[in-house]
Amino acid sequence: MYTPTIGLEVHVELKTRSKMFCSCKNDPLEKQPNVNICPVCMGHPGTLPVANEDAIKKVIQVGLALGCTIAERSKFDRKNYFYPDLPKGYQISQYDMPLCEKGKLLIGGKDIHITRIHMEEDTGRLLHGDKQDYSLVDFNRAGIPLMELVTEPDITSAAEARAFAQELQLILRYLGASDANMEQGEMRVEANVSVRKEGQEKLGTKVEVKNLNSFRSVEKAILFEAERQEELLEKGEKIAQETRGWNDAKEETVSQREKEEAHDYRYFPEPDIPPMRFSQDEIAMIQSRVPELPQQKRERFQNQYGLSQQEVEVLVVKKALGEYFENVVSELGKGDVPATQKEIQLAANYMLSDLSSLLNESSSEEIRITAEDFSELIVLIQKGTISSAIAKKVLAEMFATGKDPDHVIEDLGLSLISDQGEIERIAREVISKNPKALEDFKKGKENSLQFLLGQMMGASKGKVQPEIALEVLKKLLTESI
Ligand code: ADP
Ligand code: ZN
Ligand code: MG
Repeated sequence: MYTPTIGLEVHVELKTRSKMFCSCKNDPLEKQPNVNICPVCMGHPGTLPVANEDAIKKVIQVGLALGCTIAERSKFDRKNYFYPDLPKGYQISQYDMPLCEKGKLLIGGKDIHITRIHMEEDTGRLLHGDKQDYSLVDFNRAGIPLMELVTEPDITSAAEARAFAQELQLILRYLGASDANMEQGEMRVEANVSVRKEGQEKLGTKVEVKNLNSFRSVEKAILFEAERQEELLEKGEKIAQETRGWNDAKEETVSQREKEEAHDYRYFPEPDIPPMRFSQDEIAMIQSRVPELPQQKRERFQNQYGLSQQEVEVLVVKKALGEYFENVVSELGKGDVPATQKEIQLAANYMLSDLSSLLNESSSEEIRITAEDFSELIVLIQKGTISSAIAKKVLAEMFATGKDPDHVIEDLGLSLISDQGEIERIAREVISKNPKALEDFKKGKENSLQFLLGQMMGASKGKVQPEIALEVLKKLLTESI
């Protein structure tokens, strides 16, 4: 039996207006190549980098959200290497004085420790065509602020690694530090994987897996890699310390390069950027701007709204929907009287089922229904003024047009029939059309009543309240015996 050991290295592109050391636009999604570049991010001689304060504060905020110790003193270092996507011939990074150290993130009741978080800059992007024998380079991404987070080897399964990455993404989004879409390369995860025999103290030789472009591939690649290593060890072979790439199509890892034990980046302090100092007051100020985090929100939603764990999870992960939900609940309250549990649950139900499917089908994420109108709809449903079948139609129309429920109900002619005479007329018609059901009722077959009720709902297009329809049917049927 073998246990996997996993440590993650995560790179995140920060969402700032400008790049890390110049005033070029930070737009990693720009399609037109080499438009957001300048002499500074191209590393021309004589230019001077100036550190982006917003980016640094964002990294510190992430560190605080993850319970890290924030450095009182920190600095930038040059990491020297040659690669065509690196115009300066070195990357400005942080070596021995990272901004944040020693944090943790709770995943499934277990703390995953964070070794460090530091600040650096992104590289450009190489474009290799299939047909040409040359490559092109786009430097729009060069110099975009990049945060690197390294975990301790605390993770013991592929699912746990995935959960860590997902929770980190959620925190980054809550902080507004990054959109952290893995598919867009805004968040890039590298997994260090080793396995060891149960009972063995020492960790096994690790393999670093790159090219993980989705949560799914993080999980699949670790599963594959742990199994590959187990098989080798079972055969009595050794694990080579190396870097492997994940091939998503073939669902396997492939060797990229044997570990560069001797890789020497010749780190030295960046002479063009003064070292940094952070006072306790400055750190406290950044701390005070840390918003409610996903885990706090989970706990609060469960206590405050009495929703199930699954319901809470959706409202926490879909942050905008969760905020909308809270606005609706506050609209449902009247003055000092808070919304009832029944109303809250009803609002959650409609948001997580009907509204969510409407959002999924729609091209935009925007909810055109005001919280006030949504709460009015919930009140109509709760009071039984409209049936749930009609509520669905009304909601869809509100979603499409942004109109309030009363107008929609009127426009679509969906008001309930309240006239007792009209209800009785429909009931008589239904009974006369279904003589067999009437006979059955006379014989005491209870389900004939349900059948007739169904017919009546159909005939009225759902515009009779079921309780009233049933009452009227019972009365007429009993009279006819
Ligand atoms: P390196 O010097 O090769 O960069 P580090 O000690 O800095 O190695 O660790 C890099 C990453 O690898 C960290 O996330 C760490 O948790 C993880 N790691 C270290 N040793 C192991 C191991 N034996 N198995 C799995 N992951 C490991
Ligand atoms: Zn620039
Ligand atoms: Mg290292």
